[in-house]
Amino acid sequence: TQQFIWPMAQFGQIINMYQRARASSARIFGLMDEPSRIVEDPDADDLVVSDGRVEYDDVTFGYDDGETIIEDVSFTVDGGDTLALVGPTGAGKSTVLKLLLRMYDVDEGSIEVDDQDLREVTIPSLRQSVGYVSQETFMFYGTVKENIAYGTFDTDDEALVEAAKAAEAHDFIQNLPEGYDTEIGERGVKLSGGQRQRLSIARAILKDPDILVLDEATSDVDTETEMLIQRSLDRLTRDRTTFAIAHRLSTIKDAEQIVVLEDGRIVERGTHDDLLSEDGLYAHLWGVQAGEIDELPDEFVERASR
Ligand code: ADP
Repeated sequence: TQQFIWPMAQFGQIINMYQRARASSARIFGLMDEPSRIVEDPDADDLVVSDGRVEYDDVTFGYDDGETIIEDVSFTVDGGDTLALVGPTGAGKSTVLKLLLRMYDVDEGSIEVDDQDLREVTIPSLRQSVGYVSQETFMFYGTVKENIAYGTFDTDDEALVEAAKAAEAHDFIQNLPEGYDTEIGERGVKLSGGQRQRLSIARAILKDPDILVLDEATSDVDTETEMLIQRSLDRLTRDRTTFAIAHRLSTIKDAEQIVVLEDGRIVERGTHDDLLSEDGLYAHLWGVQAGEIDELPDEFVERASR
């Protein structure tokens, strides 16, 4: 079995990782170039997550140019449930989730986690409670182990291996030249997209956030890898409040709630079965992806490509 010891010589690196981890959410979101104008309320308390219930109440938001991007969006996600966001590119799905991480403040309305308004909680406590797994997985030069531990402060090796196993990553990691100590990145081993995704899932499992934001991968992976990824995602999202941006609808059809966004507004919502019987945008997108209809009817093509 693999032994994990942090040699003292690496202590500087750990501190460095701590600093990097502090910036992690913003960085993982790829938003480091967007100067944050979020101001923490001097009376802010740490967020305390109990049920993991998230409530958007009439949220309206626009970026600096004044254009309204999200309009009157309301929904409630009960603790442990999954809400999937579906809609054409540019509909505002990512923006809805950036507001949850408080990358920006809402212009109108409010977002609450277990009845605490995001504007009244400390920012590090919020970022620590919300985990993010994306298709553009953020990895840095370092070992596999360091990459999985990223964002988690007190990691023991056993927990790390357990996370890797749950993420279906342990087997391929063991086959790397130096196992968990293999350097990845430019100077080390190059990982495939599917491998990076599973490391990112392992990282999220280890971080064990109360709320998870999942930006589904569209990268090309073979069927077996896809199955492994799906299985590990199921483990990660089970009993955890999850927000998922889905491109392949088959991955979110069991979500407790599916919200269809178009031009920043909710146009349809319900379960998969509800939406199929509504026979609207979702039903038609589903029909195409499931191969039941050949192509999207004109009215939906125009809507889906705006
Ligand atoms: P989706 O995730 O559904 O593709 P986004 O939330 O990324 O949609 O984008 C919604 C709209 O907001 C788009 O018109 C996009 O151009 C705009 N937008 C996204 N990020 C920014 C930003 N940082 N500044 C200004 N406009 C933005």
